[in-house]
Amino acid sequence: MAGIVESFKRGYEGRDSGRYAIGGKPVACSHCGGDKFDSGTALLNTRGLTFLGIDFVNRGANLLICTACTHVEWFLDEPQAL
Ligand SMILES: [Zn+2]
Repeated sequence: MAGIVESFKRGYEGRDSGRYAIGGKPVACSHCGGDKFDSGTALLNTRGLTFLGIDFVNRGANLLICTACTHVEWFLDEPQAL
């Protein structure tokens, strides 16, 4: 799976608070409950995924990486920076 991550935007490089919301709810890490994340995107258009019949994700995915425990939360919609 190495190499699928296209880009990362470290929170400290911009004015981001590191907090995000999606679906009208603030994102919290499902592992440790942390609320600060680095964001990134991943392209999922791989032959393997298509073979598995889940090529609906071909448009890519948004990643939020918990800064406390590095757990990765995946979203198809783009999270809103808070
Ligand atoms: Zn966490």
